[in-house]
Amino acid sequence: MTFPPLREELRGLAPYGAPQLSLEQAPVQLNTNENPYGPSEACVADIAAAAAEAARGLNRYPDREHVALREALADYLSRDVAADQEPISPAQVWAANGSNEVMLQLLQAFGGPGRTVVSFAPTYSMYPEYARDTHSRFVAGRRAEDFTLDVDAALGLVRTERPSLVLLPSPNNPTGTALEPEVVGVLCEALGEDGLLVVDEAYGEFRRSGTPSAIELLPAYPNLVVTRTMSKAFAGAGLRLGYLAADPRICDAIRVVRLPYHLSAVSQAVALAALRHREELLGRVDELRRERDETVVWLRDRGLDVADSDANFALFGTFPDRHAVWQRLLDQGVLVREVGPEGWLRVSIGTPAEMTAFREALDVVLDESG
Ligand code: PMP
Repeated sequence: MTFPPLREELRGLAPYGAPQLSLEQAPVQLNTNENPYGPSEACVADIAAAAAEAARGLNRYPDREHVALREALADYLSRDVAADQEPISPAQVWAANGSNEVMLQLLQAFGGPGRTVVSFAPTYSMYPEYARDTHSRFVAGRRAEDFTLDVDAALGLVRTERPSLVLLPSPNNPTGTALEPEVVGVLCEALGEDGLLVVDEAYGEFRRSGTPSAIELLPAYPNLVVTRTMSKAFAGAGLRLGYLAADPRICDAIRVVRLPYHLSAVSQAVALAALRHREELLGRVDELRRERDETVVWLRDRGLDVADSDANFALFGTFPDRHAVWQRLLDQGVLVREVGPEGWLRVSIGTPAEMTAFREALDVVLDESG
């Protein structure tokens, strides 16, 4: 046995993560789909006051059930509920340290040895890792050429594999593709009582208008789980706060596998303060959507292929040597992400100044390659 005595199947694996470079190394950071706009000083002051209040009680464990936070999240999610529906209740909400942790808890509770998790590639590269870390079997179907989901193929895979969980981001990362709403119902019905459909709406707030949230479908499908995060539209990537909405029995089951007091008092207080400032924190979403649409048009004008995007990023290509393009952009201070199918690159939508820097740097690269 080689030291340390790591699990056999983990040997030699690299930890997941995009390169984290300093602002000196890469002044224009467009690689992790963050919101480029930080909070105002008034918002910072309110968050700091909430953290100070939490600090006064740090000798005590936090609320294990994070009730106040679940109430505030339920209230926030209820804006996506159809007019004739009941609002989301706190019992339907569960939160953890980022939607990554929410998803891991879902697999801990509903996946595991002898159980199968299905997703459709190209998609978020953490999904196979959640499966690996919970000893679940992972099966990846394929998306169509244009990165949409072929419903018949998806149904076929669900029928043959009988998964306990299907993980479907909408919009998808790294392609930006939103799910057709009817797919959700079809898959939930095919899974029935034996499986959960997890619609990962990490980028949900960036959807183009007219594409509804899967939140609307919760009353119809008890096996539907919708996950969200404060990391993207909510401009809170540093906060590490993700959450889900689902049938209360699903939230209850997760309580069996979560670590006690998994959400610190500081996280809970800061998330509550951020939710009070939701108007401001989400205030740039429309602007980012417009900037995204303009970026897509600009890239297409350059003769590049670009996947239709409902998120705050765009997947573009294809390049015979994408690493060389990535490196040449970085040489000019612009950091994008080398991710997705061979030949493609992903750029997150930043401020107008950052997007100008990106366009100028890419123009240089395109000119160089003739
Ligand atoms: N789902 C998708 C599709 C993502 O792209 C990400 C982050 N890149 C996450 C979930 C996790 O985000 P977080 O843990 O910050 O909530």
